[in-house]
Amino acid sequence: MLKRLFNNLIPNRTAVKRQVIPREQHNISRKNISSAAIRIMKVLHEANFAGYLVGGGVRDLLLNGHPKDFDVATDATPEQIKGLFRGARIIGRRFRIVHVRIGREVIEVTTFRASHEDASHAKQAQQTDHGMLTRDNVYGSLETDAVRRDFTINALYYTTEGFAIHDFVGGTRDIKRRLICMIGDPATRYQEDPVRMLRAVRFAAKLGFNIEPKTAKPIPDLAHLLRNISEARMFEEVLKLFMAGAATATFNLLRDYGLLAHLFPATDAILAGGDQQAEELINQAMVNTDKRIRSKQRVTPAFIYATLLWPPMQAELAVLRQQKRNQKVPEIVLQQQAAQSVIRQQLAHTSIPKRFQIPMREIWDLQLRLPQRSGNRALSSFEHARFRAAYDFVLLREQSGENLGGLGDWWTRYQDANEVAREKLVASVDEQGQDKPKRKRRRRKPAAQRNSEDSSAIDAGKDTSSPNAEL
Ligand code: ATP
Ligand code: MG
Repeated sequence: MLKRLFNNLIPNRTAVKRQVIPREQHNISRKNISSAAIRIMKVLHEANFAGYLVGGGVRDLLLNGHPKDFDVATDATPEQIKGLFRGARIIGRRFRIVHVRIGREVIEVTTFRASHEDASHAKQAQQTDHGMLTRDNVYGSLETDAVRRDFTINALYYTTEGFAIHDFVGGTRDIKRRLICMIGDPATRYQEDPVRMLRAVRFAAKLGFNIEPKTAKPIPDLAHLLRNISEARMFEEVLKLFMAGAATATFNLLRDYGLLAHLFPATDAILAGGDQQAEELINQAMVNTDKRIRSKQRVTPAFIYATLLWPPMQAELAVLRQQKRNQKVPEIVLQQQAAQSVIRQQLAHTSIPKRFQIPMREIWDLQLRLPQRSGNRALSSFEHARFRAAYDFVLLREQSGENLGGLGDWWTRYQDANEVAREKLVASVDEQGQDKPKRKRRRRKPAAQRNSEDSSAIDAGKDTSSPNAEL
């Protein structure tokens, strides 16, 4: 009794009570589990180690989803795991894990962790003054491993020895309640690892769950702790946030919880200022990204970053134009300066690897080139490696209400056209990329017909100009 009371008084030490859900009371079937993960558990069991499937794999199996990866937890140390599998590699310093390759699959195998309070020396666990864990390698038992995980729904263990689910933290109940609940005291757990705030939002959006009020409450006040996370880890998290098929919902939650201000501060400030066009552009980009993922089309981080940073880049460009209005600097030069400045500021928050930064800048540069279509400029833009993404970006800008004088439509027709039709299209625009004035061809009609048509058009208020006049 006293012990229970004591446990309840220490928020980070959630009372641990094992609940075992036998095979006949859950819907996880072995055939939905990767054969590599099953093989790893078998090898561990044969060597007298524990081996459990844990994390997103178990959660998604229970939700009838298709897990994207499977993680295994064991009481074997990284070195012992390495001794059991030929294709094993120990990785990570902050958090040591083993990647075991079997066939084409790589399974993460993790040694049970314990609370850092149980550390015997600083090599295993390190914490900053903000309470952030910079090293988390204190090994423990199945029970201690469960309570150091982030959310209850992520702390369910499944084993092929008996096919039961082991639940120490009420994860199965929270799956039924569709709730994201932090294990332990939420504020302390966010301080240990601020990325957990992003994870709460990501799982809520992806699974369509609510975040339990106690788990949600500290987020706005602690969002600033994201500044302590390395830019490289933040970049990885951004990819997971926007490329998991629920970018729209994720983006809205990031804003609601004040997290966006620490991921994309310049973008957040523009949205907070009520810029409707930026709002539309980003929202439409998120909707399109989700659609593409649903239909198994490729999405690139370069496009997502190009969209998120476009409004701040445009704002910077407007300032530069004003500052240099008497210097006749070409627009492309100004835009590249604006791009440089916005990217530099963003790099203080999330890294952007060069392989995405370069195509992102190209998408932006092409926004200035695509309106230039005379001579062989159209063809050279069309043959640019980034044409397709840049064209999609034009469509996105138009979808968000920007008037580009029918540019998207012109390029749509250009792509569909044969050589002759392409020449005609190119001839329809002038050097400045403007539509040339159209000469209306009038066919004379018999006088009687002319009279009757004219009057009916006026009666009905009809527009009699040809819809294909541009061609
Ligand atoms: P996904 O579907 O995105 O892979 P996941 O839950 O499997 O979701 P992973 O990042 O693969 O997420 O992590 C595997 C498991 O490790 C999680 O389910 C959770 O139990 C634990 N975990 C991961 N990151 C953290 C963290 N920052 N703090 C505590 N536990 C974590
Ligand atoms: Mg996972």
